[in-house]
Amino acid sequence: MNLDKSISIIGCGISGIFAALHLKKRGLKNIRLFDKSRGVGGRLATRRSSEGKFDHGAQYLKLDDIYDLPEIKSLIKNNILKETKVPNVYIGDDGMTSIPKFLSKDLSVSKEFKLIRINENKDKIYLIFENGQEIISDSIIFSSPIKQSIEILDRSNVNINNDKFNGVRSLEYSPGIILMIESENSINLNYEFFQENPSDDFSFISDNYRKTISKKENFYTLICSTNFSVKNFEKEYDEINSMLKPELDIIFNKKYNILSNHKWRYSIPINFYPNDDSLNIGLNNFIGMCGDIFTNGNFGGAIKSGISIAEKYMKNEV
Ligand SMILES: Cc1cc2nc3c(=O)[nH]c(=O)nc-3n(C[C@H](O)[C@H](O)[C@H](O)COP(=O)(O)OP(=O)(O)OC[C@H]3O[C@@H](n4cnc5c(N)ncnc54)[C@H](O)[C@@H]3O)c2cc1C
Repeated sequence: MNLDKSISIIGCGISGIFAALHLKKRGLKNIRLFDKSRGVGGRLATRRSSEGKFDHGAQYLKLDDIYDLPEIKSLIKNNILKETKVPNVYIGDDGMTSIPKFLSKDLSVSKEFKLIRINENKDKIYLIFENGQEIISDSIIFSSPIKQSIEILDRSNVNINNDKFNGVRSLEYSPGIILMIESENSINLNYEFFQENPSDDFSFISDNYRKTISKKENFYTLICSTNFSVKNFEKEYDEINSMLKPELDIIFNKKYNILSNHKWRYSIPINFYPNDDSLNIGLNNFIGMCGDIFTNGNFGGAIKSGISIAEKYMKNEV
């Protein structure tokens, strides 16, 4: 294995970061991560608003079968990942984004690099980004949500195994609509800082103050139910918020303010790739795919998929 060969990883979510960390650990010198966003972390996302904070992607983490990974131990040792009062439930100490920020601090990350398409020419892959940049790489790993990776590959000029590629076309995510709310009063929740299915249109509510990530009290994240999100995803926020008003009025006794909304087009996978934890579809060069849809749709699964694609690369399965 030539450790000087370059590899580009599309997406700086937790799966892409773990792919990069493991390739680096195995001695690869030329690893570059690209993300379309201004920050790292993807669906591990935290938003700041008037002195308060909201996690508006992943809400809490279970470490079960990833607990022994050295990176997880290091996150715990450095107080980035901490256990809550609910046993075996972990959070990012300063919000979920503190986790990818910490893990990617020694990696080469280019932000605001949205990949549009790739062109393969013999043993090189040309990456074309929306910002006009073109990067040449020996290999590529897509850790972007699979639907976005498919769109890019469909407009690309690449030599791939179509049987393998067609195997991921049926994978789907549900969309998710999120509300970030400041209320006048604290409300009762089933668990220490959260409650599942608080009403028909909401599947989850979390108090970011009791969760200890927000310095300001009564900062709540609400996740709309899959049914509601699917039906109303394309609507404007004003319309969505007025549809949700009756349930919000009950939950917060009419004393609240919606500070912001967020939409995840690809929120949680609804079906999974059945055959493996990651996939290499390249025929000439390594074109890998990883992410939570290859495993079980959560933090731990995304990590396992990132490690899996790094291992495939090291075995050079082209
Ligand atoms: C609302 C919500 C609640 C959740 N709750 C939990 C929970 O409580 N516990 C849990 O374990 N999991 C939860 N999850 C799931 C968890 O967040 C994901 O499983 C995990 O973060 C996925 O990581 P990933 O690396 O596979 O993908 P992502 O985090 O989606 O990373 C993909 C990255 O690719 C980038 N990208 C996409 N297209 C391009 C492009 N063209 N060019 C460059 N970059 C691109 C994106 O910007 C993103 O940063 C939740 C998710 C959501 C949305």
